[in-house]
Amino acid sequence: MQENLSIYIHYPFCKSKCPYCDFNSHVRDGVDHQNFLLTYEKELEFFAQKLCQGEKSRKVKTIFFGGGTPSLMPIFLVEGILKKISQLWSVDEDCEISLEANPTSFEAAKFKDLRRVGINRLSLGIQALNNEDLKFLGREHSAEEAILTIETAQKIFDNFSFDLIYARPKQSLESWRAELIRAIAFGTKHLSLYQLTIEKGTKFYTEFQQKKFQMPEENLSAEFYEMTNQITSDAGFELYEISNYAQKNFECRHNLVYWQGGDYLGIGAGAHSRIYLDGEKQRSAISMLCEPNAWLKKVAEEGVGIQKMEKISTEELLEELILMGLRLADGIEEKYFYAHFQKKFSEIFDFKKLRKLEEQGLIIIEARGIKIPHHQRILSNSIIEKVVGCLLN
Ligand code: SF4
Repeated sequence: MQENLSIYIHYPFCKSKCPYCDFNSHVRDGVDHQNFLLTYEKELEFFAQKLCQGEKSRKVKTIFFGGGTPSLMPIFLVEGILKKISQLWSVDEDCEISLEANPTSFEAAKFKDLRRVGINRLSLGIQALNNEDLKFLGREHSAEEAILTIETAQKIFDNFSFDLIYARPKQSLESWRAELIRAIAFGTKHLSLYQLTIEKGTKFYTEFQQKKFQMPEENLSAEFYEMTNQITSDAGFELYEISNYAQKNFECRHNLVYWQGGDYLGIGAGAHSRIYLDGEKQRSAISMLCEPNAWLKKVAEEGVGIQKMEKISTEELLEELILMGLRLADGIEEKYFYAHFQKKFSEIFDFKKLRKLEEQGLIIIEARGIKIPHHQRILSNSIIEKVVGCLLN
């Protein structure tokens, strides 16, 4: 049973749909935000009943507003949700409360109010610092607007991060180097740097199939990654997860909960949870209905908009913890596994097999856990599979 809780709030709307996006985001006119507030509150109340642990309330350590574009939420909605959470659970004094924002002037005008109602970490979806690529990525903002928004965020939030997408079609290593150095100069303490990927069901997927553009070859992608890691490292950032870079103590604590196997509750259309409900020894995987109106209707009728809820078997949980944990530079740590299974690594893994992987230079075994060496990160997927193969039956 876990004592801490992280809460994710999904806001499922965007102004337009980006061509590479496979998130649960919808474009709608005239959203009834008052109704949304009541619905989020109702779903939070439903789970408060299932996560009260009798007298002792769980402590909320992180809250994350994701989407969609949560910076489109009216302030009263963000404020109302935070108020409801603090009525239902005990919220840690040092709770990290993040919100994802798009860099437009409309959204920047809200930053002061977002800070006032409790948001203390902002994550800006900048994606590129040149207009040609922003246009290709289907973004609504210009590079100039992005820069103004970063400057506004800087004045209001001590803790802000921004995302960039690289390894774009036609992008050269040199142009990415210049763009990344320029981005770092804004003084952020956290960066999420993702290589562009083409996901099924997106507009880019169709266009890519139709050969409307080409993606960088595998070798070039690896060079992009290496160069990115070098530039960020020279600037004092640690690559603490495959695509996330932070200066000391500026890691996203909410995302660390996902990667370290902590409990999180997902509220809103299309949100996911991994959680031990009261009195249950097996962890539950819960997903909410994705279509916003279907979610609203189900919560109105049943108090919760669950699409699927199942218990996770021990084998599934082990694999999930390895898969998520080995994304981190620190790797998988025994203490997090112990919290789930009350077992040491020696009772979970076949160490003879693990030692062989270590001899091949694929993993490093330390007293606290197992990690992938920095220079082998590019092979993470196949190494993770091999580590899963070392589980005792
Ligand atoms: S703004 Fe983000 S969530 Fe919305 S469509 Fe674009 S990538 Fe997807």
